[in-house]
Amino acid sequence: MTRIHSAGTLAEATLVQRSLEDAGIHTEMRGMSRPGLAGEIPIPDAKVDVWVGEDDADAARAVLSGLEARAHLEWVCPRCGEHNPASFEVCWQCKQDVADDS
Ligand SMILES: [Zn+2]
Repeated sequence: MTRIHSAGTLAEATLVQRSLEDAGIHTEMRGMSRPGLAGEIPIPDAKVDVWVGEDDADAARAVLSGLEARAHLEWVCPRCGEHNPASFEVCWQCKQDVADDS
């Protein structure tokens, strides 16, 4: 398996997963509890990763680049309500970290 997308929200991960499954690519969501990764990579718990099989990685990337080109992936800033592209880790307007919902 290879990680194809790291989503800031479960909603985004679900959207990515659905799009990949629609393309006939088997996916797996990881990250809600992050087993086995503690101490390895410092990723906030809020991240949800979408994984696909090695053989499907290229096709999955093509699907994802299509998604991002259509700008369907975005998240709403919990602080100021601004819409941000999924590729942004922090709000472009107020610098709120996507993973920090406090
Ligand atoms: Zn903001």
